[in-house]
Amino acid sequence: MSFAQNSAISSKPYVLVIHGGAGEINKAGTSPELEAAYKASLDKALKAGEEILKKGGDAIDAVQAAIMILENDSLFNAGKGAVLNNKGMAELDASIMRGDDLNAGAVAGVTNVKNPISAARLVMDKSPHVMLGGQGAEEFAKANGCELVDNNYFITDKNRKRLEQIKSNKGKKSQVKQPENRDGKYGTVGAVALDKNGNLAAGTSTGGMTNKKFGRIGDSPIIGAGTYADNMSCAVSCTGWGEYYIRLGFAKSICDRVELQGVPLKEATKLMIHDKLENMGASGGVIAIDRYGNYSIDYNTSGMHRAWVSSNGDTGVELY
Ligand code: ASP
Repeated sequence: MSFAQNSAISSKPYVLVIHGGAGEINKAGTSPELEAAYKASLDKALKAGEEILKKGGDAIDAVQAAIMILENDSLFNAGKGAVLNNKGMAELDASIMRGDDLNAGAVAGVTNVKNPISAARLVMDKSPHVMLGGQGAEEFAKANGCELVDNNYFITDKNRKRLEQIKSNKGKKSQVKQPENRDGKYGTVGAVALDKNGNLAAGTSTGGMTNKKFGRIGDSPIIGAGTYADNMSCAVSCTGWGEYYIRLGFAKSICDRVELQGVPLKEATKLMIHDKLENMGASGGVIAIDRYGNYSIDYNTSGMHRAWVSSNGDTGVELY
């Protein structure tokens, strides 16, 4: 790369937005220590992603790097710290997508892949498929060099107790209509980025929802529902009551509104959260960046863990 090209690229904008899940999160229910821990982790993930973008790296690498840090932190419902299904096991879902060629990869229902987002990336890069599930995804991850761990690695005491608590409440609530962690937080992690070359990318990783049925797959690994990226419109990552995000084709629907109807990004995310999702009686949040670097963070819960950084100096970490 010549100096002229190099300096041209260094002046181009980049943006990164990450989330650590939406939910009934508020200051009163969060100790100062926990608040500091969440912020430190989000900040670390943001910096890892920004480092890549600043150097002119790819949006998809920034997305993956940020998500891997959150997967490795037991504070979040992804990787270590994933919530448990009705059998007391962690079953993980993740997906990643790039906006330049619409290439995407996803894994669903994996139980031993330490970083599901890296397995999703490998499905994208090293297979002709978009999504692999269960044992096949695990075999593929192993064959392609992913680190495998025992399922116990993901399980925390907090999540074990949460499952017991929900199971002991059984019968008091409808198991169909009431999501098990509606009163808690969703805790899924995700990232969206625009790099200096104008490419968008998005990724999402989750343990799903507490006490979900064995084999249940949420929106997070579904391209178009929990994750979508298209350079013609925007990059989107969702967190919330997955069944509704799937039914709404949530992420793609935001992109279509932006691309086909010319709706500004913030209006498109607002409509999907506060109109479509809310009218169905569901809750959650979304982060998105459009091709011009405008970003939107929206949710209809009391909080959503989030952080953002832009080459124009706009940056922050917020929980509520
Ligand atoms: N959307 C995820 C799911 O339904 C849950 C979450 O956002 O935490 O699997």
